[in-house]
Amino acid sequence: MSKIKCRNCDKELFYNSISDIPTFPFCSERCKLIDLGSWFDEKRRIEEPITNDQLENTDT
Ligand SMILES: [Zn+2]
Repeated sequence: MSKIKCRNCDKELFYNSISDIPTFPFCSERCKLIDLGSWFDEKRRIEEPITNDQLENTDT
Protein backbone atom coordinates (compact mmCIF):
# COMPACT_ATOMS: atom_id res chain seq x y z
CA MET A 1 0.00 0.00 0.00
CA SER A 2 1.37 3.35 -1.01
CA LYS A 3 0.23 6.83 -0.22
CA ILE A 4 0.26 10.04 -2.22
CA LYS A 5 -1.29 13.43 -1.83
CA CYS A 6 -3.54 14.82 -4.52
CA ARG A 7 -1.52 17.43 -6.35
CA ASN A 8 -4.44 19.80 -6.43
CA CYS A 9 -6.13 19.60 -3.02
CA ASP A 10 -3.60 17.62 -0.90
CA LYS A 11 -6.15 14.93 -0.07
CA GLU A 12 -4.38 11.68 0.86
CA LEU A 13 -4.83 8.75 -1.50
CA PHE A 14 -3.98 5.13 -0.78
CA TYR A 15 -3.30 2.59 -3.51
CA ASN A 16 -1.70 -0.75 -4.20
CA SER A 17 -0.76 0.12 -7.75
CA ILE A 18 -1.02 3.33 -9.70
CA SER A 19 -3.64 1.76 -11.97
CA ASP A 20 -5.98 1.71 -8.95
CA ILE A 21 -6.32 5.46 -9.38
CA PRO A 22 -7.49 6.38 -12.88
CA THR A 23 -6.95 10.03 -12.07
CA PHE A 24 -3.46 9.56 -10.56
CA PRO A 25 -1.84 11.67 -9.16
CA PHE A 26 -5.13 13.40 -8.37
CA CYS A 27 -8.00 12.32 -6.11
CA SER A 28 -10.65 12.93 -8.74
CA GLU A 29 -11.30 13.89 -12.33
CA ARG A 30 -12.22 17.35 -11.10
CA CYS A 31 -8.83 17.96 -9.48
CA LYS A 32 -7.11 16.59 -12.54
CA LEU A 33 -8.96 18.99 -14.82
CA ILE A 34 -8.35 21.94 -12.52
CA ASP A 35 -4.63 21.23 -12.41
CA LEU A 36 -4.29 20.57 -16.12
CA GLY A 37 -6.38 23.64 -16.88
CA SER A 38 -4.17 25.92 -14.83
CA TRP A 39 -1.09 24.36 -16.36
CA PHE A 40 -2.36 24.91 -19.90
CA ASP A 41 -3.36 28.47 -19.07
CA GLU A 42 0.12 29.14 -17.75
CA LYS A 43 1.79 27.59 -20.77
CA ARG A 44 -0.44 29.39 -23.23
CA ARG A 45 0.24 32.70 -21.54
CA ILE A 46 3.98 32.19 -21.88
CA GLU A 47 4.12 30.76 -25.38
CA GLU A 48 1.45 32.67 -27.26
CA PRO A 49 -0.08 35.88 -25.98
CA ILE A 50 -3.86 35.88 -26.36
CA THR A 51 -5.12 38.06 -29.17
CA ASN A 52 -8.53 39.67 -29.43
CA ASP A 53 -9.58 36.99 -31.92
CA GLN A 54 -8.84 34.19 -29.46
CA LEU A 55 -10.71 35.91 -26.66
CA GLU A 56 -13.84 36.02 -28.80
CA ASN A 57 -13.53 32.35 -29.68
CA THR A 58 -13.36 31.18 -26.06
CA ASP A 59 -17.04 32.08 -25.61
CA THR A 60 -18.29 29.33 -27.91
ZN1 LIG B 1 -7.91 16.44 -5.10
